[in-house]
Amino acid sequence: MSDISAFQKNISLKDHNTYRIGGSADLFFEAHDRVSLIAAIREMRMQNTPYYLLGGGTNVLVADEGFRGAIVKVKHQTNDVRDDVIVADAGMPMGALIIKAQSLGLSGLEWAAGLPGTVGGAIFGNAGSHGGEMKDMVIAVETYDPKTDTVKECGSSACGFGYRHSAFQENGMIIVRATLQLHHDDPAHIATRMKDIVAKRIAHQPLAQRSEGCVFKNIELAYSEEGREAITQNEEFSVFRGARFLPAGAVIDTAGLKGTRIGGACVSEHHGNFIVNEHNASARDIIALIETIRARVKEKYGIILAEEIKIVRNT
Ligand SMILES: Cc1cc2nc3c(=O)[nH]c(=O)nc-3n(C[C@H](O)[C@H](O)[C@H](O)COP(=O)(O)OP(=O)(O)OC[C@H]3O[C@@H](n4cnc5c(N)ncnc54)[C@H](O)[C@@H]3O)c2cc1C
Repeated sequence: MSDISAFQKNISLKDHNTYRIGGSADLFFEAHDRVSLIAAIREMRMQNTPYYLLGGGTNVLVADEGFRGAIVKVKHQTNDVRDDVIVADAGMPMGALIIKAQSLGLSGLEWAAGLPGTVGGAIFGNAGSHGGEMKDMVIAVETYDPKTDTVKECGSSACGFGYRHSAFQENGMIIVRATLQLHHDDPAHIATRMKDIVAKRIAHQPLAQRSEGCVFKNIELAYSEEGREAITQNEEFSVFRGARFLPAGAVIDTAGLKGTRIGGACVSEHHGNFIVNEHNASARDIIALIETIRARVKEKYGIILAEEIKIVRNT
C-alpha cells in the first residue's frame, strides 16, 4: 500500500470518535496491518500531506471544520503471548487485550477493565485508573519514526512516561506495537478484580452518554503550588491532603459547574470532569465549555486546568 487511491475521500469523522462530533477528513485510511500503517504515513510524508493518527477515538475532540489532510486509523490487532509477556499491536482494543489476559490467567491489567480505546492510544496518553497506569507493564514499544523512516524498539525508560504523558506526545513517533509484562494469577481472581473495577466505573462515570472520558488532567500536587494552596484553604478539599492528586472533577464540582451547558454540551452531573454531548453538540460548544470551566476554576482557586483530551484540527 503506497498508493494514495487506497485512501477514502471526504469521510465524516463523527463515526470515528465517541463524542460523535466533528467535520470530515479529506483523506481517510484504516491500517489493518503494520506494513500498511507505516506505508500510509510514509506516503503522506512524501506528499507533504498533514496526517493525524486515530486509535479508538475515545480521547479526542474533532474540530467542526474536520481535518485538511489524512486521518490514519490504527486497526492492526494481532497479539502474541510468551509465558507472562504479551506483545500486542497498537490497534488492539484494550477490552480485547484485557479479556485475553484474564482468560490466560495473566494479571496486571485489571485496573483497565472497561477502559475504551486501543493499546496505542493507552500508551500515547499513559492511560490509567484505579491505581494502575499503562507504564506499569510496558517493557518496550516498537515505533516508526516518520522523520527518519525507521522502525525501532524503545525500552520503557525511553518512552518518557509521566502522569497522562509519554514522549510520543512530543516526538511524533508512531506506536506500532507494545510488549507488556504481566504475571500469572488465578483467572477467577483476575475476573473478580475486573468486575469490581467495572462496577466502580458504572457508579462514577456517565457511561450512557457520549463523552471522551476526563476532559482535564488531575492536579498533580507536587507540581502545583495553587493546588496545594487550594487544599489548605478549602475545607471541602481536606480529604486530598497528602494525596498525589487534587482531582479536577472535585474542583469543577465545588466550583459549582456541574450541569453547566453551552449549546448541546453539558458538564456531567455524574462526574465533574466529563463534558457530555447531550444534544448534538458542536466542537465549538465543547471548547466554549472547556474555556468557561477553566476561567471559573482559575478565578475561584487560581488553578489552571490542563486538557487531557487532544484536539484534532489543523494547526
Ligand atoms: C467513557 C470513557 C472512560 C474513560 N476512562 C478513562 C480512564 O479511566 N483512564 C484514562 O486514562 N482514560 C480514560 N478515557 C480516555 C481514553 O479512553 C483513553 O485515553 C484511551 O487510552 C485513548 O485511546 P484511543 O485509542 O481511543 O486513542 P485516541 O482517542 O484515538 O487518540 C488519543 C491520542 O493518541 C494518539 N494515538 C493513538 N494511537 C496512536 C499510535 N498508535 N501511535 C501514536 N499516537 C497514537 C492520537 O493521535 C491522539 O492524539 C476514557 C474515555 C471514555 C470515553
